[in-house]
Amino acid sequence: MGKGKLVVLGSINADHILNVRQFPQPGETVIGSQYNVAFGGKGANQAVAAGRSGADISFIACVGSDDIGERIRKQLASDHIDTRPVEAIANMTTGVALIFVNAEAENVIGIDAGANKALTPAYLDRYQQQIVEASALLMQLESPLESVIAAAHLARQHNTQVILNPAPACELPDTLLSLVDIITPNETEAEKLTGVKVTSEDDAARAAQILHDKGIATVMITLGSKGVWLSQQGQGKNIPGFKVKAVDTIAAGDTFNGALVTALLEEKPMDAAVRFAHAAAAIAVTRAGAQASVPWRHEIDDFLA
Ligand code: ADP
Repeated sequence: MGKGKLVVLGSINADHILNVRQFPQPGETVIGSQYNVAFGGKGANQAVAAGRSGADISFIACVGSDDIGERIRKQLASDHIDTRPVEAIANMTTGVALIFVNAEAENVIGIDAGANKALTPAYLDRYQQQIVEASALLMQLESPLESVIAAAHLARQHNTQVILNPAPACELPDTLLSLVDIITPNETEAEKLTGVKVTSEDDAARAAQILHDKGIATVMITLGSKGVWLSQQGQGKNIPGFKVKAVDTIAAGDTFNGALVTALLEEKPMDAAVRFAHAAAAIAVTRAGAQASVPWRHEIDDFLA
């Protein structure tokens, strides 16, 4: 992939989390405890994972013209991310997720994409240069699909490698898939894209082949605590993850993706890059929270030493 810059294009959300004993019924008010605002959004989580793990990264995203948007921009900058392409959009609010968590640790979530909707192809046009100059472009699916497709086209024209984490799960047009160099679905996302339910290595190999046939050279299906199924040039294998005591797996996949791209940009061989990403994600699952759990480079190096 060559030593060089990374661009992440994606979402930013503020997660408002309220713990309640039981979810409120229609018309009911419940008194909660431990209200928390956490910074999230798959784009931001992956950008933070890349920044903390050592990538030279800029982030194309949008926040609202509100206080929380400003706080998030500052936090991202302190995570070693170039936030010049993160604009505060007038008359819009920062994306939010309203999350109730009950005593059984189940959750119900309502999302307003807010300013994430402003990441249109016209917005992207202002930051074309970032993609043209980068060695790699990492994206997810919480931004307008036409922008994801436009960015992938531009990247392909300029030899910028396209890494797509196809989350949240949805079906995708072949035109987009044909522009992707590395795809990193989890099992649910792989099933959505291929129709193959991934419960064994044979299933993973079949799902990977379907994605290869759409023009994707490298398929990496993440398998939670079981690691990944890595498939390249028709050759597939399991690369196990690290055994750790998991506290919460929020942002495991995001941490994996951000760290993976950092390692690939350092020209680590694919297997070593996956090991690096496994280490980063393993550390993240031993800690609570999304961005709060994402490790810094020295922690990953210590873990692997
Ligand atoms: P997602 O969070 O997108 O659903 P996965 O659950 O497949 O993604 O996890 C992504 C990566 O996070 C895995 O490939 C692995 O590196 C790491 N991981 C997830 N769960 C665990 C776990 N329980 N123990 C160790 N590593 C884990």
